[in-house]
Amino acid sequence: MRGSSATMFLDRLLAANERYAAGHPLANLDAPPSERLAIVTCMDARIDPLPLLGLRPGQAHVLRNAGARVTDDVLRSLVISQQALGTDVVIVMPHTSCGLLGLDPATLHPRRAAGRPATRLDFHPMSDLEAALRQDIQSLRESPWIGENAEIHGLILDTATGYIVRPDL
Ligand SMILES: [Zn+2]
Repeated sequence: MRGSSATMFLDRLLAANERYAAGHPLANLDAPPSERLAIVTCMDARIDPLPLLGLRPGQAHVLRNAGARVTDDVLRSLVISQQALGTDVVIVMPHTSCGLLGLDPATLHPRRAAGRPATRLDFHPMSDLEAALRQDIQSLRESPWIGENAEIHGLILDTATGYIVRPDL
C-alpha cells in the first residue's frame, strides 16, 4: 500500500477510533488481569483469543507473535505480567495451519541497505507444532525468571474448527 491509498486507509482507521472512543467501553478496567492469566498465542488474523476461551478484556494479558513462540521478548513480557501485574497462570496456544510451520527462514531477507548491517533475527522456525510447543513449555518451566508456583499450560487451537486440544506435554 502506497501514497494516498495508505493515507485513506489510515483515515478510515482513525475515523473508526473516533466512534470507539466516544463510548470507550473499557475505560474503567484495572491494568492487572482479573483472571491472573497470560496467554501466548499467534498473530494469525483468524484468532480472537479472548472469546474463544470465554474471556473478556481486562481478564488476561495476550502476548502474540508469529507462531506463539516463547521468545526472549515473550519471556520479558511474562516476567512483567507476573511480577508487576500479578498473573500466575500461563497458557501457550499455537494453532494448526500456522504460517510459521515449515517456513524456511532462508527465504526471509533484509529488504534494503540502510547504511548499517541488518539486525540478526531469529525467526524461531518450527516443523512440528507439538514438538515446538513442548520445547517452549519446558523452557518456561525451567526458566529462573518464572516462579515455581506459576501454572504453565500448552494448548493447540484448531483454526478450522475453533476447538482447542490439550496435548500431552
Ligand atoms: Zn500462526
